[in-house]
Amino acid sequence: MKTIAILGSTGSIGTQTLDVVRANGDIRVAAVSAGKNVSLLERQIREFHPELACVWEERDARLLRERVADLPVKVVYGMEGLKEVAICEEAQILVTAIVGMIGIVPTIEAIKAGKDIALANKETLVTAGHLIMPLAKQCGVKILPVDSEHSAIFQCLNGERECGQDHGSLHKILLTASGGPFRGKSYEELKKVRVEDALKHPNWSMGQKITIDSATMVNKGLEVMEACWLFDVTPDQIQVVVQPQSIIHSMVQFVDGSVIAQLGTPDMRLPIQYALYYPRRRYLAGERLDFAKIGSITFENPDPETFLGLKYAFEAFAAGGSMTTVFNAANERAVSLFLHGRIGFTQIYDIIRYCMDHHSTIQNPDVAQILDTEKRVYEMIETKWPQSGIRS
Ligand code: NDP
Repeated sequence: MKTIAILGSTGSIGTQTLDVVRANGDIRVAAVSAGKNVSLLERQIREFHPELACVWEERDARLLRERVADLPVKVVYGMEGLKEVAICEEAQILVTAIVGMIGIVPTIEAIKAGKDIALANKETLVTAGHLIMPLAKQCGVKILPVDSEHSAIFQCLNGERECGQDHGSLHKILLTASGGPFRGKSYEELKKVRVEDALKHPNWSMGQKITIDSATMVNKGLEVMEACWLFDVTPDQIQVVVQPQSIIHSMVQFVDGSVIAQLGTPDMRLPIQYALYYPRRRYLAGERLDFAKIGSITFENPDPETFLGLKYAFEAFAAGGSMTTVFNAANERAVSLFLHGRIGFTQIYDIIRYCMDHHSTIQNPDVAQILDTEKRVYEMIETKWPQSGIRS
């Protein structure tokens, strides 16, 4: 029997993690956490009987306490609550299914407490990979990728090398991308896209933030950085390949020219389950690939001059230090503004560009400096584009 805790149990990855738990019957859920979705969290508490549950706001904690007063569950809130979930004594694995940089501190606490991390929250590695990977090594903790591409790479490297350990056999990573809903569009066309169009991912059903990140290709940029930290490679060892059908989840080329790919239907339960049971595989119900029906799998180069998210990500990672936090934080705020209808789609790029151009990189930032950089980025955006009409 494994025991897990989940940060972000009410989200897309969180609910699919609970689907995996439900289907297998031999994983216990010791702790769950949500942002605002108290009703779903209450249903999860009634079904999975965790000892600990966390919400973000104190008033939601009061409401949840009233609703689950008949159950032996402790309700906590805020960052202290998230930390409590992260280090919850019974859990061996923490699933980081929370969205954004808010995941950094609880993830670090969990590693210090010796928990293996099933990592979906890529923003954590993007901004604090230089702290998290050495700490995980020092604490003897596994970082198990949940992101489908990174799980694919992890599976391809099985028997060749593990996250963070160096062997000489890897030549390069072929990181696949669907290209998102706007593949093939020009920059001028991108200027006119609406929120509802950007939220229609052709292959994957995901949370809103990552869906917009996929449309801008910022997500692929974040994934390049995530892969660099997880697999100890440099960006020039990563080639982004557009594979619009999302059947190949990524590939690895070895020094002898051999390429190993991981394929499957676009179903996040697969990488989630692989992380939870690693190194064993379990039966997973669901659709299987039918190659005769698929007919063909096609490949293209990405277009970083139109989808600037990818280009800026490589630039941010090359600058290193706090610049990746600037890239990430500027994007987080810009995506939120876009989702609220306050800016146009391509202004997400403008905001990232502006913030990167106005930041002096701090090398090897500690957690306080990372969080301070995030705050400064938000202030910079607020000053440059005061509230409502930031259209240029
Ligand atoms: P969702 O938006 O669907 O879910 C986010 C979760 O985080 C929800 O449980 C939400 O709670 C919680 N949350 C949000 N803000 C706060 C806060 N301030 N305090 C506490 N909890 C909070 O996101 P996804 O599941 O799509 O993505 C989660 C992470 O996984 C992201 O980093 C994403 O990049 C990564 N990822 C996602 C994939 C996917 O298929 N969805 C694929 C690969 C990676 P609530 O809803 O209750 O407010």
